[in-house]
Amino acid sequence: MRHLYVHIPFCLSRCGYCDFASEPLGPHLRAGRVARYMEALRAELETRGHLLASSLETVYLGGGTPTVVPPKLLLPWVSRLGRRLAPGGELTVEANPGTIDAGMLAGLAAAGVTRLSVGVQSFSARLRRNLGRRTTDEQIAGALAMVRQAGWTDWNVDLVFGIPGQEAEAARDVQRAVAAGPTHVSLYDLTYTEAYARWVKARLGEGARERAEAFAETAYSEAVARLEAAGYRRYEVSNFALPGHECRHNLAYWRGRDYVGLGASAVSTAGLERWRNPPSVCGYLGGDEPDREALTPQVRLFERAMLGLRTIEGVSEEDVGPVLDTALLDALVERGLVLRRCATLSLSSRGLDVSSAVLAAILSPPGSRAHPRGAFTP
Ligand code: SF4
Repeated sequence: MRHLYVHIPFCLSRCGYCDFASEPLGPHLRAGRVARYMEALRAELETRGHLLASSLETVYLGGGTPTVVPPKLLLPWVSRLGRRLAPGGELTVEANPGTIDAGMLAGLAAAGVTRLSVGVQSFSARLRRNLGRRTTDEQIAGALAMVRQAGWTDWNVDLVFGIPGQEAEAARDVQRAVAAGPTHVSLYDLTYTEAYARWVKARLGEGARERAEAFAETAYSEAVARLEAAGYRRYEVSNFALPGHECRHNLAYWRGRDYVGLGASAVSTAGLERWRNPPSVCGYLGGDEPDREALTPQVRLFERAMLGLRTIEGVSEEDVGPVLDTALLDALVERGLVLRRCATLSLSSRGLDVSSAVLAAILSPPGSRAHPRGAFTP
């Protein structure tokens, strides 16, 4: 396997909407658990080493917030990964404002990091408060200026779309992301955990979530148009890149490649086997066994079709034929939502805007005896 994900499950504090495996750094640092965690990652890399090619095409350090880990613990580990990278390979590190400075950025570059992903989420302090996120305007401006000054040539800004109360400020968020000059922008729809949904209701009132979701549904295509007008090509439903700056690690997932994940909560997929590491730091350090799942060829094919159709390169119709509802597919091709070109299926821009509905319509989930037909009304 030539793709490696490493999970760093620590953050400065926990954001209200967070659905990732992440725990506040402070208590772990004081108890020496961060050092033990980095050591456990090294041990897991050795254990899983036989699954990985000697040189890796892509490595992705995500979280959590990798850059919250003190440099003396983080950088030796990143260097170790950098040495495993094939020439021209991609090594991404997620880096949140408030956790990077010029020294950290220089250290990451020296360790072989080729790409940064900066979690901005929104340029509006009010909207970040509505996400339960503590980053300040100064931290964001400082981080973006440092990344530019340090001369990074491959870097992403993460934004969230559909934050409660974003209606008047969504366009400004996209404009400010573009003005910052990244080579890649991810524009993710906000997803609600149960706890966050309760928090939004209590803090922002009845209907705030519903209004935000309705706004996101109708306004996302305007945000896409703004990004495209600025030269970013939409190469996946929520991802936009200047030509040649697509995230190769994510492309590997969407193309159905096998990968190894290290760390708490990380998932690995190898052929017809998938395993998930224990979700908590305690469970991971305590040696809890991963959850193992046997996949069927049908499941892998379904995932390949579902993820591949979210990209503009699409999928081979012949390859994913067994999981397609051909009658509905033909109808959606007819309506211009799905494109059929040179035996490849992909979604049109209109299709990408309603991708969940299109994919639910044309894909037959594994185990279903017949496709659950229903009205398709995007
Ligand atoms: S910074 Fe990201 S991973 Fe950390 S708590 Fe916030 S949303 Fe979760």
